[in-house]
Amino acid sequence: MTGGAEFSASTTDDHAPLTPGWSCATCGAEWPCAPKRARLLEEYRADRAMLSVYLGSCLAAAAEDLPPSRGPSLQDRFIGWLPRGPRVS
Ligand SMILES: [Zn+2]
Repeated sequence: MTGGAEFSASTTDDHAPLTPGWSCATCGAEWPCAPKRARLLEEYRADRAMLSVYLGSCLAAAAEDLPPSRGPSLQDRFIGWLPRGPRVS
């Protein structure tokens, strides 16, 4: 379990996507991986709308790179994990 761990300000574990496969460059999971999702929520905490815009652009790019049928829809993968509602505390 990694619950409760806080992310340090390291630049070597950026969890950036590797294209065109859209796997995580750091942990190898499908991007956005769990650590990246947590980080994005933290980074965009004050501006959730911008996070949706950002993920939407990633989704559009991934849709170009990846074959059309790969399990769960890309929309679920990139955007479906976002918490619902205007505020999560
Ligand atoms: Zn990762």
